[in-house]
Amino acid sequence: MSRYGLSRTRTRTYAAGALALLAFATACGDNGGGSAAPAATTAAPTAPKPTTGAAPTSAAATPGATAPAGANAAAWAKWNLTPLAPAPAAPADKPVKLERTGPVPVFSEVKTTDKVVFITIDDGAEKDPKFVEMLTDLKVPISMFLTKDIVKNDYGYFKPLQALGNHIHNHTVDHPVMSKLSPEKQKAEICDDQAALTQQYGTAPLLFRPPFGDGANTPTLNTSVQECGPRAIVLWRESMQIHDMQYQAADKKLKPGDIILAHFRGPKELKGATMTQMFGDLLARIQEQGFSVARLEDYIQAPAS
Ligand SMILES: [Zn+2]
Repeated sequence: MSRYGLSRTRTRTYAAGALALLAFATACGDNGGGSAAPAATTAAPTAPKPTTGAAPTSAAATPGATAPAGANAAAWAKWNLTPLAPAPAAPADKPVKLERTGPVPVFSEVKTTDKVVFITIDDGAEKDPKFVEMLTDLKVPISMFLTKDIVKNDYGYFKPLQALGNHIHNHTVDHPVMSKLSPEKQKAEICDDQAALTQQYGTAPLLFRPPFGDGANTPTLNTSVQECGPRAIVLWRESMQIHDMQYQAADKKLKPGDIILAHFRGPKELKGATMTQMFGDLLARIQEQGFSVARLEDYIQAPAS
């Protein structure tokens, strides 16, 4: 595999390397994206569930879209977006149930018939205040997988995002190719990020994502994750680029429960587009396929403490 020295060059040229990493990450997801046959179980079109509560009241809504109530529509309009349909209530019986001990599951989608997808945003390089403003306005749930060496110059940036109810998860100290590391070094990458994120954000990350998805299904990495605290390894089904997603599924369509990978990126990595433009385009791609965005952690039962 061409996993040449990305980890060596990353620190100095992270921004320039990001596009290469992106291409790699997607290819890696295609080849090793965890569960092998999600399409078989979710390919049949699922009738949209009636959304619970919140009857649409906004006259400004696009025909066919279920809009949240008035003030929200204005917030979406501020970002030149049409409101996404609200996600259904979180399931009482969580589709993913994590255990306190033992091997951790590896998954790239969640089993659900809800017409929802989950957005995960990785690394933490771009720290655009406009994105905080956008999420504060839109209240779209995200899950963040943060890399210590990439966020440590401004841990504070992510705190208002966390205050919105968004969870922070483990994505190593310096974004290496995990399968090239010894078990001891793998542990250092995960445990040290776990400690830093726990200290900074007041809660221990529940989930881990290996950079590039690499090594996700190896026993060595599974053991390293277990020894550091996270209770699942989370991959993805789609990878957001600049204006559209790359899909692992041949039909290039979202399926209920898909986990989408995006990154904290700015104009240098996005060919001039901003983080908020990328994110707006992501929401538009989700909306045009009739999906809502739900909170990943609402579909996961953490181990009983
Ligand atoms: Zn990453």
